[in-house]
Amino acid sequence: MQRNWLLDMLANELRPMAIQVDTWPHHYIDDPDNGSDWCLPCAKAEIAKRGRGEALETWDDCDTPPVCEGCGAILSSALTSEGGLYELDHFADSEPEAGDIVAAYELRQMAKALVYATKYPDAQSLVAAICARFLAATAAPIDRWADDGGPTE
Ligand SMILES: [Zn+2]
Repeated sequence: MQRNWLLDMLANELRPMAIQVDTWPHHYIDDPDNGSDWCLPCAKAEIAKRGRGEALETWDDCDTPPVCEGCGAILSSALTSEGGLYELDHFADSEPEAGDIVAAYELRQMAKALVYATKYPDAQSLVAAICARFLAATAAPIDRWADDGGPTE
């Protein structure tokens, strides 16, 4: 598989911000195809309410960014390339706010989802442009220099 080096590099640049977002292991109850995603505490509460079921962790990639059905927490599964395109639809309409760590997390997930998606070259270019604009608009690189007594705002 051919790797898009630019998307890979941008995903790495987004990492220091993205890893500040709290994510939770992705669980489902009984059946991964039943449409609901859960964090473990909410899965356990739902099972107690139903009086049956088993919470199982999943490592499957998702077609949409998974959030907990109970509390809305961000769940940690990776996205499929279709999931990357889904996020691109969102970010093409709504430019991410500079410095927003949740946006950094979502942009990184989107970029990683499309690193090997060579059948979507136009989407890869759009994602690279959105990620680059976000990084350029974000103060994070300037903060890094400030520690060394380098350029500041
Ligand atoms: Zn939850």
